[in-house]
Amino acid sequence: MARSPRLALALALLALVALRIAQLSPPSVIPASAPPDVFSAERARAHLLEIAAEPRPTGSAGHRRARDYLLAKLADLGVQAEVQSTSVLSRQWGLPYDAAHVENLVARLPGADSTRAVALVAHYDSVPGSPGAADDGSAVAALLETLRALKSGPPLRNDVLLLFTDAEEGGVLGGKAFMDEHPLRGEVGIALNFDARGAGGVVAMFETGPGDAFPVRELGRAAPFPIASSLFPEVARRLGHSTDFSVFKRAGIPGLNFAFSDDAAHYHTPSDTLSNLDLRSVQHAGDYALSLARRFGGLDLRHRDREDAVYFNTWGAHVVSHPIGWASPIAALVAGLFAGAVVVARRRQVASLGRISSGFLAFLALLAGAAAAVGGLGWILRRVHPVLRVMPFEPYNAPAFRLALALAALAVSAAGYRLFRRRLGACELALGALLLWLLLLVGASLFMPGASFYFAWPLAFSLLGLVAVTIRRGDAPPTLADAALLVAAAVPVVALAVPGPYLLFVALGLPMAAAPALAVALVFGLFLPHAELLGGGLSRRLALAFALPGLAALVVACAPLGFTEAEPRPASLAYALDTAAERAHWLSADRDLDPWTAGYFPAERAQSPSFAVPFVRVTRQSEAPSLALPPPSLTVLGDAVRGGVRSLRVRVASPRGAPWLLAEVASPTEVIRAEVDGRRVEESARGAGARRNVRWGFTYMGLPPGGIEWSLEVEDSGPLEIRLMDQTYELPRELARGPRPREIMGVPYRLADSTFVSGSFRF
Ligand SMILES: [Zn+2]
Repeated sequence: MARSPRLALALALLALVALRIAQLSPPSVIPASAPPDVFSAERARAHLLEIAAEPRPTGSAGHRRARDYLLAKLADLGVQAEVQSTSVLSRQWGLPYDAAHVENLVARLPGADSTRAVALVAHYDSVPGSPGAADDGSAVAALLETLRALKSGPPLRNDVLLLFTDAEEGGVLGGKAFMDEHPLRGEVGIALNFDARGAGGVVAMFETGPGDAFPVRELGRAAPFPIASSLFPEVARRLGHSTDFSVFKRAGIPGLNFAFSDDAAHYHTPSDTLSNLDLRSVQHAGDYALSLARRFGGLDLRHRDREDAVYFNTWGAHVVSHPIGWASPIAALVAGLFAGAVVVARRRQVASLGRISSGFLAFLALLAGAAAAVGGLGWILRRVHPVLRVMPFEPYNAPAFRLALALAALAVSAAGYRLFRRRLGACELALGALLLWLLLLVGASLFMPGASFYFAWPLAFSLLGLVAVTIRRGDAPPTLADAALLVAAAVPVVALAVPGPYLLFVALGLPMAAAPALAVALVFGLFLPHAELLGGGLSRRLALAFALPGLAALVVACAPLGFTEAEPRPASLAYALDTAAERAHWLSADRDLDPWTAGYFPAERAQSPSFAVPFVRVTRQSEAPSLALPPPSLTVLGDAVRGGVRSLRVRVASPRGAPWLLAEVASPTEVIRAEVDGRRVEESARGAGARRNVRWGFTYMGLPPGGIEWSLEVEDSGPLEIRLMDQTYELPRELARGPRPREIMGVPYRLADSTFVSGSFRF
């Protein structure tokens, strides 16, 4: 045993933090030899060999093969499945419209005496170019394996609906079609959605529907390894993530939304392959799906109370939840505890109100310093590091960068503590930092009560530690008993506070590293009594203890590893033919070109881009040979003017059989009303006027071979110009300058490895 209180405390804290972070990894894979009523990720993997064999964007051949495979497997399981084949129109991304022809797969496992159905949801489309092994093939495979395990036992009480949605990647279009018009939509009593935003990591329950107290309580009871926190929805909402779950949530259906999000370098890229997927994440997703299908499958899902809850993991996967109404009383209790600590500190003459306020300001400066230093470091790295320049969100070795940046934030925090400690007492600085935590607690309990626990309990236990040691002890030298008290206080603080910054680093990537760094420094503020006992107030040792390993981690992270076939370099190249201008271009969205792509952009002839692709910032273009590719076709079916309103009915199609089409009104014509593939939209005059700088238009995914009908009512004010552009997900083979090296892949998916052909029409 360590005899020095400092060494004992340092080792204990290190062990606690390491253990807590280790708990945020997924469970081990259960082999295919497991009993039939168990979920095995190895069995799910067999489905992924088929599903993730090739990209399956809506409307592609790979998509049709995946659909047929799923239908065949459902039939093998003896489950009735049907295809919901329909068109859908949404405003999700605001072009202004996103439309699609979708084919949702809906299967139903009948219950013995169903009260309401348990819906298990995953999307089976992928983005173009990506095999989507993780996103969202992993969940599709996991739900097939879940269904098999369910079928191996006696029927549940409730129906289980398996919903494999289409065109999620086009703006949750399949999910919308299901909730808009599928006859079974009214049956759903609870929705459990599974998605992925990376290729590995723990599966977190990060979003809930209305009335989450009931499903969260059952999650804590039934799931073998639940990772959940009411803090996640508050963060996710602000990040604007949307998945199929949003349509259920909007419809007022209770539910839980699950995802894994580590190894995000593979997200939406050709490297989202089965070999890059962490099967443990599939095991984790399946553990949730099977345990919760059984749990909710046996409960009465009618008339559930609509209470909301605050919930969080304590140590490991233990979930605590309480009614959301308790947030304010808990905040009041903790505020009382804070006031008590201040009173004791003043009696012991280790703090005054004025100097606590100075401590508060000092802590704000410390936070700003840590955020600025790490944000600045991230900014510089993304500009000078050759890998980060081409992978700005995160590189394949992201954990090394996260560790380096977290240690940098801690080093700056420790240096700041020592700096301010020259002017202020240890207790004054500690209470100053905790005053900020108190203000955050009050703010959270008023405006985002789901996040209140994050500030309440760490603050409460930090106060207890502070009172027990610093205030009690005064100036006496530290003893092992002091270290033990501080370790005891640290156990709940580490359990609750440490996952926050860790998961923020995973969720936000490098461009927003200042935010998790701020969170690291904020959490550091809970450990100022610990920093003081470790000698961080007087010596440089604490700051160096963070800075030196941080530097080592940074050196390791920055070591040039090179790209490989499994971890390829993202690069973008597309071919665009503008038939109206009779010109063709090579396009790229890259900052730095690899030698192969650079062959298409002779430096002296690279132009500033003139060809626009939605959602992509094209950075360079060069002249390309014009191929004899047909543009999208437009056939006028009707054209009449009545009372100043022109009604036009056309059929648009892609003679090239492209799955994706963009249609826009290129003239400054006011659109009053439109109908796309049978879906009507009304434009209020004001709405259309307000968006005058945005062209009226829509994108269409899964374009049928015969095209779609589109009717328009516009103000009859001069000629109407329509621009059509279609996209196929491959480069013209006849123009290829040799095969692309295998350590390069096409990214971003909206542009790379695509052929665009546009045409204009005037009436
Ligand atoms: Zn997805």
